[in-house]
Amino acid sequence: MNTIAFIGLGNMGGPMAANLVKAGFDVRAFDLSQEAQETAKANGCEVAFSAQEAATDADFIISMLPAGKHVRGLYIEDDAPLFEVIKRGALVIDCSTIDGATARGVAEEGEKLGIGFVDAPVSGGVGGAQAGTLTFIVGGSEVEFRLAKPVLEAMGKNIFHAGGHGAGQVAKVCNNMLLSILMAGTCEAINMGVKNGLDPAVLSEIMKQSSGGNWALNVYNPYPGVMENAPASKNYQGGFQVDLMVKDLGLAMDVSQQSASAVPMGSAARSLFTLHKAKGNGKLDFSSLMQFYQDKE
Ligand code: NAD
Repeated sequence: MNTIAFIGLGNMGGPMAANLVKAGFDVRAFDLSQEAQETAKANGCEVAFSAQEAATDADFIISMLPAGKHVRGLYIEDDAPLFEVIKRGALVIDCSTIDGATARGVAEEGEKLGIGFVDAPVSGGVGGAQAGTLTFIVGGSEVEFRLAKPVLEAMGKNIFHAGGHGAGQVAKVCNNMLLSILMAGTCEAINMGVKNGLDPAVLSEIMKQSSGGNWALNVYNPYPGVMENAPASKNYQGGFQVDLMVKDLGLAMDVSQQSASAVPMGSAARSLFTLHKAKGNGKLDFSSLMQFYQDKE
């Protein structure tokens, strides 16, 4: 069985590494956080003293880090960059959500050393990471995609090949920009209906079965009490944080600027979510934008 180095064992990376162990891979794990290392050990990973130790001789190196600067630092710019020790022919799978330009830059540096690279950001959140049902959106060559697929299948259900290096990141932010627009529109419509005397559950059912039907209405209703298991009915705890949506919308704005793509709806959604975050709601689920429309603090 192949050896996998796993760097970044946070909310997402921790359970993803645990699922690789369950699938029978030898996983050498590293995180800057002692607590994360201990959890990984309890989940059957071999814990390394450094990222370099984890990556030496590994066949696959997976990273799940906060942002582009951490990914570029880890492989190229830190004091002990991983590209110094990763063997020729190994494949780097970066699952972090970062900008496409950084992903392409790291891929290019790897290529010079005979190291493969795919960007493989995910959709599905912490619940999907724990259940092993994530969606992976992969950017890389056909050969790299085929190499990565069996590893990704141990952590996810849907594995898409979006295109060349960086394409996974672009597809991911296109999706999340659309999600933010759908959620904002859904909150807006429900709030107007309620202010005009409608029952939010009745209105939601009408729109769900009509031409306004969308993912937020189907599985993630933002109005408290309409859907028992949605974050809205749990004080907007759990789910996908406003902070992460604001991060992804920032990346979407970068992509729109670089490609001169008009994104008036995405820009409006970014402003709404940023204002909502500025009011101190960054840690709440993103469907809490409902409270912004209700003018609740
Ligand atoms: P997190 O903050 O919980 O975990 C990141 C981990 O990386 C931390 O444990 C941190 O200690 C570690 N780390 C940072 N720099 C490191 C380094 N140089 N070496 C080793 N470890 C290092 O974040 P998360 O929620 O797991 O998210 C990770 C990525 O997944 C982000 O890019 C995020 O945008 C993306 N994502 C998150 C979600 C979600 O719902 N949380 C959903 C989809 C995508």
